[in-house]
Amino acid sequence: MPATARTTTQSAKLNQPSTLDDVEVIAFDVDNTLVDILQTKRDTFAATLETLADRGLAIDPEAQARELYAFALEEGIDDPDVVPRFLVEELGVDDERMLADGRRTMERLEPGMVQLYEGVISTLDQLRSRGYQLCAVTDAPREAVRRRLPPNGLTGRFDRVIVREDTPRGKADTRPFEMLLEAVDARPEQLVAIGDHPVRDVSNVVAMGGHGVLAEHGTRSSYNDVAAEHEPTAAIDGVEELLALLPGCDQRSSALASLTR
Ligand SMILES: [Mg+2]
Repeated sequence: MPATARTTTQSAKLNQPSTLDDVEVIAFDVDNTLVDILQTKRDTFAATLETLADRGLAIDPEAQARELYAFALEEGIDDPDVVPRFLVEELGVDDERMLADGRRTMERLEPGMVQLYEGVISTLDQLRSRGYQLCAVTDAPREAVRRRLPPNGLTGRFDRVIVREDTPRGKADTRPFEMLLEAVDARPEQLVAIGDHPVRDVSNVVAMGGHGVLAEHGTRSSYNDVAAEHEPTAAIDGVEELLALLPGCDQRSSALASLTR
């Protein structure tokens, strides 16, 4: 057994071990589950403002990148116009060319800045080789997903990707997961969702008869007050811990036995 698997076997918290026996489909949330979106945005904003300063915008890129980050957290981290809006509303910039440049520069730089959590690619590949269908279900808009998935080797690793626009309310209800089950022709008990939000990624899926794994490595302290109706099936602190929870059909019984010892 590789060293990583041994560590994760010891640390993953599994509340209801036997229930993962039927899982065939894994639905990953993207932001704060596979992608460290906050670090990604921090780096992207810093690089964007540096570029604009090089082109003549009179700003202190480092200090103002922090302000831009705070602004984006308030105003919408995925707003494609967040840079020009910040420049207008906070810095009083009225140079139309510079504003358009701000938007374009952010879009161009973000794909190269995307930070995946440790072990994401190798974990996805191992889960794939264990026979699971891998899917992504995200509340991020299609454009943002396009910017975030391609440059990191995530493209092509998912059988289905469901984005915010695919359903009326996103993961505020269970529709995206029902849509996924229809698409892959699976039953709820064959589905496990992995995500950082206790309700949207976990409790809602458990409520519909599926399984939910809370990705504690991405869960924000602001979620402490979120009242989730259902407990997660399991919790992980790092994507690699999934390898201990989802051993694949052949090895299920032995790995689960070691988890519950
Ligand atoms: Mg998330």
